[in-house]
Amino acid sequence: MAERAENVPLRRDFGLLIGGAIENSDKQLEVINPATGAVFASCPAADSADLDRAVAAARQAWRSWSKTSYSERAALIGRLAVALRENQDALAELLTMEQGKPIGQSAAEIDRGAAQSEGMAGIEVPVESLIEDDQRSIELHYRPLGVVGIITPWNAPVNLALGPLVSALYTGNSIILKPSPYTPLTTLKLGELLNDIFPAGVVNVIAGGDELGQAMTEHADIDKISFTGSVATGKKVLASSAGTLKRVTLELGGNDPAIILPDADPKAIAKKVFFASFVNSGQVCMAIKRIYVHESLYDDLCSALVDEAAQAKVGSGLDPETKLGPLQNKMQYDKVIEIIEDTKRSGATFLCGGEIPDKPGYFIPPTLVTNVDESSRVVAEEQFGPVVPILSYSDVDDAIERANNTRFGLSGSVWTSDPELGRAIAAQLEVGTAWVNQHRATSAFVPFGGAKESGYGRQYSLLGLKSYMEPAVISIAK
Ligand code: NAD
Repeated sequence: MAERAENVPLRRDFGLLIGGAIENSDKQLEVINPATGAVFASCPAADSADLDRAVAAARQAWRSWSKTSYSERAALIGRLAVALRENQDALAELLTMEQGKPIGQSAAEIDRGAAQSEGMAGIEVPVESLIEDDQRSIELHYRPLGVVGIITPWNAPVNLALGPLVSALYTGNSIILKPSPYTPLTTLKLGELLNDIFPAGVVNVIAGGDELGQAMTEHADIDKISFTGSVATGKKVLASSAGTLKRVTLELGGNDPAIILPDADPKAIAKKVFFASFVNSGQVCMAIKRIYVHESLYDDLCSALVDEAAQAKVGSGLDPETKLGPLQNKMQYDKVIEIIEDTKRSGATFLCGGEIPDKPGYFIPPTLVTNVDESSRVVAEEQFGPVVPILSYSDVDDAIERANNTRFGLSGSVWTSDPELGRAIAAQLEVGTAWVNQHRATSAFVPFGGAKESGYGRQYSLLGLKSYMEPAVISIAK
């Protein structure tokens, strides 16, 4: 049980959103500030009866919501983007309090969510003419699925809610949104904003634990689950959704490789490679998690990355100077410490970091390791923390093979001064997205999702929007 912050009253100004009403509950979730390790807020938690009420409200609201036009729905999503920007400061502070990330990155998460929402609500979903001849006219329409359940993790609760939420609403579905029990607060505040904009019942937001997520996947009147989280939970979600043959989109973990080619300039790329590895203290599904460097630049890149690490201030996300906040929760903090201990035992070389400060909060300094075996935990697992291995190669085909030698397949990147060569190598990475000379660049207009066990389906773009809809053929004889 975590300590409570002394002499500071708990924040309790949070409510569930069910059927257009903001509700309290007898059951409460306590929320820890990971920069202190102390409980700072408490919010209501929903049970399965609350879920049933939310689903009934969503179903009822869907009947009329599904008949509104794209432009009507886009107008309301536009109002949501305005509300997000108007409330950006308060939301960002709350997000940093519960998640830990630096305040500037929290503000950017909200701004980005607003921009991506506007982007998605501008995508046209056309009726496709399949055959048009003398005998028949055959069209492919897309109609909303119904009630969509959205389950999110704790690393980017706003952005990872808004992607599926806007996709589902824009395509005419109603929703039930459940954030992670570690980070429910900003999502509940988002619910209040949504409630001022959308008709009652179209959006429902319920906080709760893993069992509430499981109940959503099993619920007979939810038509689709959009899940973002770990591979292990994703497999459970897919299995328990099978009982009702729900549509499922899974955005899961990654172990993203970056391949640095011999013609890259270590000093020029170090800042970008460092940020893509350590942003949000490595707690990003598509962060760089393995760096493969050609032997000719190995020493130069290592020292350039160590320089970056030395400049990255670790501390509370509320301090504007902070570059790396704490790990989000004790479980993840312990897991990353175990990986560091395992890496130490293996005899690896620590270029920087590796020592855990003896102070409150879940802080781990940026840690770069070399001389690690490809099968060691720090290379083979999704570490999801600020510890990254740098691995040397001499033959690029060997680097590609090692990069692909994993059941993960979220994304990856190639770094080179020759973009055409970069493209040719990017095309060989077994991932949903391969970047050249960048990493982590996403857009509302570009599908995102994982290959292999990193995902199932895609979010964003027309491809993602269609996954919230049922293809429906209309075939007319002439
Ligand atoms: P998690 O899988 O433990 O939990 C995610 C959510 O699922 C939480 O809301 C949780 O309450 C719920 N849940 C847990 N058990 C459930 C069950 N049996 N049925 C339904 N719901 C259940 O993940 P996490 O630790 O919160 O998040 C970290 C993981 O998320 C990392 O692996 C990360 O890579 C991944 N992630 C992926 C993406 C992506 O877009 N691919 C983005 C961000 C995070």
